[in-house]
Amino acid sequence: MADLVIIGASYAGTQLALAARANGFQGSITMIGDEPHAPYQRPPLSKGFLSDAVDASSLPLQSPERFREERITLRTGVSARRIDRQARTVSLSDGAQLRYDHLALTTGARCRRLPCEGAELRHVYYLRDLADACDIKARAREASKAVVVGGGFIGLEVAASLRTLGLDVTVVELQERLLQRAVPALISTFLQAAHQQQGVRFRLETRIRRLLGDEVVTGVELETGEIIAADMVIAGLGVVPNVELAEDCGLAVDNGIVVDRFARTSDPAIVAAGDCASYPNPWMPAQAHEAGAGDAGRCVRIESIQSANDLARVAGATIADRPAPYEAVPWFWSDQYGYKLQMAGFSAGHDEAVMRGDMAAGRFTSVYLKHGIVVGADSVNRPQDHMAARRLIAARVRPDPDALADESVALKTLIPA
Ligand SMILES: Cc1cc2nc3c(=O)[nH]c(=O)nc-3n(C[C@H](O)[C@H](O)[C@H](O)COP(=O)(O)OP(=O)(O)OC[C@H]3O[C@@H](n4cnc5c(N)ncnc54)[C@H](O)[C@@H]3O)c2cc1C
Repeated sequence: MADLVIIGASYAGTQLALAARANGFQGSITMIGDEPHAPYQRPPLSKGFLSDAVDASSLPLQSPERFREERITLRTGVSARRIDRQARTVSLSDGAQLRYDHLALTTGARCRRLPCEGAELRHVYYLRDLADACDIKARAREASKAVVVGGGFIGLEVAASLRTLGLDVTVVELQERLLQRAVPALISTFLQAAHQQQGVRFRLETRIRRLLGDEVVTGVELETGEIIAADMVIAGLGVVPNVELAEDCGLAVDNGIVVDRFARTSDPAIVAAGDCASYPNPWMPAQAHEAGAGDAGRCVRIESIQSANDLARVAGATIADRPAPYEAVPWFWSDQYGYKLQMAGFSAGHDEAVMRGDMAAGRFTSVYLKHGIVVGADSVNRPQDHMAARRLIAARVRPDPDALADESVALKTLIPA
């Protein structure tokens, strides 16, 4: 019987193992994870777990019984060091060697580090895993002033959580607006105002010159010369994909491990999924100059639970010899204070935006159209709009913009039967 080895025990790894079983894969499944824990949820680490609303007991992704029932062997606290594609083996840090017929790379990503002087000081943090979150939480109990470097999702969620815990928080961002890569300007403006109402300060279009302190960080010096006092600094500068294992064994890598719509790498025995993989996403329009992108969409590496889970489902089906291409509409969410921001589709490149609801009241949906077709939607505290928007995007609906804007018309009624 065939052996499946999965490197990386988190969202993509777990989903891939379950999907392989659900599609009838009968061989052995071994999942290798270098963290000491069984797979757990990461989103709460910057949200409810950090702000003390939920504790660690609610974090596991699956129960130990489920892994047992599905005959998934989990080996935690051990890392994969080398892949030999000829011999079809994986060497582990504990000296073991595993043979595979199918190999899955779900190695995720790691935090980009601060490049400036002082980055090695104590109480400078990054947030990727449970250990990081516990360290930040422990320091937040003693600290009173935090500087967050980076106004992306992680930075803003950390800012909100630390503010909720009562710390004085300043966010420093290089770009002229928050979340510049991820959302249109109106969402950036809304979130910035929400944070400012809670007392968070911002320094936009500002670069860090260095971190100050002797052993322990005491402040941040900006390129403007301004010094902001800090008892802790948290950097949210984005992530880099963990592609070294793939690169070392000669797989194609280009801002992620390159896979096709069936999650296959350049070696047919190896699939990849999650934050480490770059794949053709049908909802990301191909650019005219991109050879080969065609109707399959543009290659993207998406850092989200949806992408990790859905590409892993595809990879699991591929392994079980029931291939079905990736088709899922992308979606994402972020919780900050009492606001749940939910995003569907890709709004970049839209030529029309329609507002539903009341932005000032913190309950609205901005729907994005391109050539009249719904391509994306950002909702704040309107979960029903978000769910309907995913289906409008999937159906490539061309709605009447007046109906979209009319709150008396439920979005779901615009979905064709
Ligand atoms: C604080 C935080 C908040 C987030 N919030 C959201 C959110 O609200 N919504 C959302 O959609 N997404 C969110 N994300 C992103 C989301 O968590 C990631 O997209 C998701 O975790 C990707 O899953 P993955 O399985 O691909 O990779 P990961 O979760 O990164 O897991 C990869 C695992 O593989 C392990 N590994 C790597 N190399 C090896 C090796 N050689 N041997 C053994 N093990 C290895 C890693 O240590 C890790 O445990 C958040 C992320 C963080 C950190």
